[in-house]
Amino acid sequence: MAHDHHHDHDHDGDGHEHDDAYDDEREQEDAESDLRRRVALSQVRQYGDPVLRMRANEVEAFDDELARLAERMIALMHDADGVGLAATQVGILRRLFVFHHDGADRVLVNPVITASAGPEEVDEEGCLSLGPVRVPVERPVEVTIEGRDAGGEPVTLELEGLPARVVQHELDHLDGTLIIDRTDPASRREALSRLRPRLILSR
Ligand SMILES: [Zn+2]
Repeated sequence: MAHDHHHDHDHDGDGHEHDDAYDDEREQEDAESDLRRRVALSQVRQYGDPVLRMRANEVEAFDDELARLAERMIALMHDADGVGLAATQVGILRRLFVFHHDGADRVLVNPVITASAGPEEVDEEGCLSLGPVRVPVERPVEVTIEGRDAGGEPVTLELEGLPARVVQHELDHLDGTLIIDRTDPASRREALSRLRPRLILSR
């Protein structure tokens, strides 16, 4: 799932109080993180790629390869400025995703939502596989999700609000479901009209 982009500084000020060296440094940092983000996004499958529509398979072996995959996905998620990333988004049809929660990176393997509660709430979601598209999606506010960590240990998380939304979004990916499938028809139409020109350009 994609992060909101709010830059906390602007370059429209009158310039009198600006420290030019500081500004240059900030601009360089911005350029570097922008480049890192674009490189990371180039490794994330984009809308139109059939793998995004496939159902991922249960993980059976909790081996070093799985641990390395999880580490790679965590690094990619951070570089791409995301809050969650599913294995299908990197072209791997295995049931695992990573997400950032409470200041920590988490891996959930073979995740299952075992309970949901609270009202359904509508909020805007973006996706690392859907470029600039953001659409309203209705989801339960609270979920209990169970699975295993990368080492095979059982994990149960009771989540509320944004993290609950993130895990539902990522779990959808493992079933080939995207946010454009869960939004209202008008938002879906608008999203598709934004996605189509990207497809043509990428061919
Ligand atoms: Zn997504």
